[in-house]
Amino acid sequence: MSTLQETDAVRIAREELDRSVIEARRLPGERDDNFVLLEPGGAKCVLKIAPRDDDPAELELQHAALEHLAEHAPHLAVPKCLAGPVTLQDPLAKGRRARLTGWLEGRPLGMVQPHGKALLASLGRMLGELDVALEGFAHPAQNRVLKWDLACGLAVIAERVGDVEAARREGVENWLTHSRDRLVPFFERARRGVVHNDANDYNVLVGRDGERVSGLIDFGDLLETARISELAIALAYAMLGKPEPLLAGREVVRGYHSASPVEEDEADHLIDLVRLRLLVSVCNSARERRRHPDNEYLAISEAPAWALLDRLRDVPDAWSTAVFREACGYEPIARSSRIREWLRSTAPASVVGEDLPAQPSVWIDLSVGSADLAALSDDRDLEAWSEMIRRRLQETGARIAFGRYDEPRLAYATDAFRQPGFEIDELRTVHIGIDVFVPAGTDVCSPLSGKVHSFQVNEAPRDYGPTILLEHTTDGGDPFWTLYGHLSASSLEGLSVGQVIEAGQRIAHIGDASENGGWPPHLHFQVMTDLLGKSGDFPGVGTASTRDVWRSVCPDPSALLGIGDPLEKASDVAGLEQRRGSVLGPSLSLSYREPLHIVKGRGAWLFDVTGQPFLDTVNNVCHVGHCHRRVVAAGQRQMAVLNTNTRYLHETILRYGEKLLAKLPDPLEVVFFVCSGSEANELALRLAEAKTGARDVIVLEGGYHGNTGRLVELSHYKYSGAGGRGAGEGVHALPMPDPYRGRIREGDPEIAAKYAAFAGEVIDELLALGRRPSAFLGESILSCGGQIDPPEGYLEAVYRTVRGAGGVCIADEVQTGFGRVGTHFWAFERQRVVPDIVTMGKPIGNGHPLAAVATTREIAAAFASGMEYFNTYGGNPVSCAIGEAVLDVIDEEGLQRHALEVGRELEAGLRALQGRFEQIGDVRGAGLFLGFELVEDPSERTPNAALATRIANRMRELGILASTDGPEHDVIKIKPPLVFSREHAMTYCEVLEKILTEQ
Ligand code: PMP
Repeated sequence: MSTLQETDAVRIAREELDRSVIEARRLPGERDDNFVLLEPGGAKCVLKIAPRDDDPAELELQHAALEHLAEHAPHLAVPKCLAGPVTLQDPLAKGRRARLTGWLEGRPLGMVQPHGKALLASLGRMLGELDVALEGFAHPAQNRVLKWDLACGLAVIAERVGDVEAARREGVENWLTHSRDRLVPFFERARRGVVHNDANDYNVLVGRDGERVSGLIDFGDLLETARISELAIALAYAMLGKPEPLLAGREVVRGYHSASPVEEDEADHLIDLVRLRLLVSVCNSARERRRHPDNEYLAISEAPAWALLDRLRDVPDAWSTAVFREACGYEPIARSSRIREWLRSTAPASVVGEDLPAQPSVWIDLSVGSADLAALSDDRDLEAWSEMIRRRLQETGARIAFGRYDEPRLAYATDAFRQPGFEIDELRTVHIGIDVFVPAGTDVCSPLSGKVHSFQVNEAPRDYGPTILLEHTTDGGDPFWTLYGHLSASSLEGLSVGQVIEAGQRIAHIGDASENGGWPPHLHFQVMTDLLGKSGDFPGVGTASTRDVWRSVCPDPSALLGIGDPLEKASDVAGLEQRRGSVLGPSLSLSYREPLHIVKGRGAWLFDVTGQPFLDTVNNVCHVGHCHRRVVAAGQRQMAVLNTNTRYLHETILRYGEKLLAKLPDPLEVVFFVCSGSEANELALRLAEAKTGARDVIVLEGGYHGNTGRLVELSHYKYSGAGGRGAGEGVHALPMPDPYRGRIREGDPEIAAKYAAFAGEVIDELLALGRRPSAFLGESILSCGGQIDPPEGYLEAVYRTVRGAGGVCIADEVQTGFGRVGTHFWAFERQRVVPDIVTMGKPIGNGHPLAAVATTREIAAAFASGMEYFNTYGGNPVSCAIGEAVLDVIDEEGLQRHALEVGRELEAGLRALQGRFEQIGDVRGAGLFLGFELVEDPSERTPNAALATRIANRMRELGILASTDGPEHDVIKIKPPLVFSREHAMTYCEVLEKILTEQ
């Protein structure tokens, strides 16, 4: 073992390599002594001193490879050779060989969390590029013998398996016996190449953004071997410790294949090779551990490899291979395309004893976004499903209903449909068979000749009656299987494994709800091109992330049945994005780098097209919960009766107007109904002008009030932002009353008065010009400004000043109204003021385009100049029915109080996290209108927009929709539908904690 110290490294570098080094720091290394050297001006390089017994040829090999790469692939982030190798004279290192290489910036992959898709793909791509670049490289020493050469792996394991603890030894020996026959010939025929051979997570460096590999170091294991070893070794490490190892591995494979195409034979052996590397690793550790029984670290470092091996034992190899094949663009199940072709060319046959194509039939939409399901009183209630199917059959006069193949359904999004051996974190939602809804008792027939492969009665929680699997063979000799589910329990009598079945033979009959887990009576029919090591427990639903693989494992059976699915297929995200780009104006933005395709809302949840749920913490529009039944029903009912304008007498607008005004303090006694927050603010400005005869408007910096020409010119958030053209004529913006990062900060006892004094200054300037303010327009908690809660007394002082100069005060409650702030119904009430005009939008219609302006009788009268105020849609009966339902729900469900209670808990949770993570500079807001500001440096309060963006994106990956706000984009706002629960608040804090813990 070396005893070289950092001071020795400095001396050696100075004296023998002629570097003017200031300081050296030791770096980890398995054999070499490695030091990072700091040079004047901040430059860094790496000093590597080989052990005394090192083979000089191996060092020459590494050196030559790096030189080759520098010349042929200069873009690759691998160390550059700066000096050496030289043989050292230093008394402490005499005879050892030293060299200097360039320093690569980055953190080791093993210290970076999380490993996102982009990062994993970048790792694969870099290795692929490296292997391509090494194709033209040759060196006499490249055919070296190394225990880390995968081609020697079987021998290494065989030699060391005796050191593995007894409980695990047999498993390893069994694997060895079974894998030899596959792997030995593979290594004999495998494509060879010179490879790095050790892309472990401490040899891979990651760039600052955490999304890209910034370097690959340590070429000490470089050699010529089976070329695919490069990828297999990287995979073994990339899959360690991952909740979904295969999905993580798949990204690496995709990246590698994009740069260096993986051959089909290589793809077919990848999972074996990953296991081989893991076993070499644990067998080596076992040997070391036997030699050094006191070294606890050895056992600890082995644990993740064993954990992954255990995890992979549950995953059928055929499945892993299918996933990796798909990542390389190969048909996931090689014979699937031949089987599909054969099925297409075979005469269609029935599965229910009837000529299916000849029967009047209807296809039922059971997808995530199905309107038929949403119309049910409970779209998860299977009885309601049965009722809906019965109704559809009746309405259409059909005898048979079909449920679709490759359809994501929310019905399966429960733990019952999770299956060990596949992805476990992701909900399985995609139906991979076809449903044939027919009465219970209907005969089930095999459409093809074959034999009984297996049958089983399914136990709870998937107790949906017996399943039968038949085995068939195509004319070309490819085996495949058909599955029949939801059968009657008595079906299995007389059936035996291996029993020959003729085409058209009756094999079972359909079960009723009492014996098929409560489902509407139907046959679940599925075709399998591989059994993935399963039998009767074969899944009938797959995960969306592996949908392409499932399509190959379980192809569409409709051709075999002679039926065709006429319903429109949901487009993929890329297709929608492209169409959107051509149909809609480019000024519309999409959230997230990978846009979401949301098709359903329920309560505080949104669901994407594949049924993945997202907790919505951004949408304060769907105030009482997405698609609240009462609100939906109110709109639907009124829409079926009458929808017209306000020029006729109608009860609803009056009842609703009275209810809404009852929520407002005196003297706000008159209401105008409009269709958007922008229209409301436009009208408010006209009202103010009518009352005051003046046009100058005072607003707040960071404010947003709407999308019309005038409102953009007075919304500081817009006119001073990207594409903005400055404040409009007569617009005066006051500094944001931000106690955390504003001009005057918390702790100043005069803070409210000092901020309010800016209004006085504007007014003095106006008066000096012979003008007066028409209005002050501001939010009572600033939303786009970054959830800023002005200091107590601020609005009171501003209102007093503005009114003193003859202006009126408009409270924009578009974001904050309707009980969201918890203590009060309106946010202005927290500041103990009564505005002259209140504008409302967003939550007022729970997503329906409804908005309103409330004002005093006096101002309304001043506006009645003889010119009619007509708004075609404003106040129509449908909007009013919806608005009234929203008010009723807020009251009856106690949502204001709920916002207060849950908001307090959420705020407390956030404050607790603030205590632990100094990046959270400030937590603020009221009720369920909260925000937290992220800072680089808590004492300087410097904004940290990058972290805010990272949190928002990462939350989306973890199933929470969040977004950033504030002029510096460093605030995460929280304004969920008010049905957001305590559990949701806890989940939010847990996820945030997880993200802040990641580096
Ligand atoms: N005022 C505020 C405070 C808002 O946040 C918005 C919308 N974001 C508006 C007015 C404009 O509302 P709308 O988009 O309905 O026109």
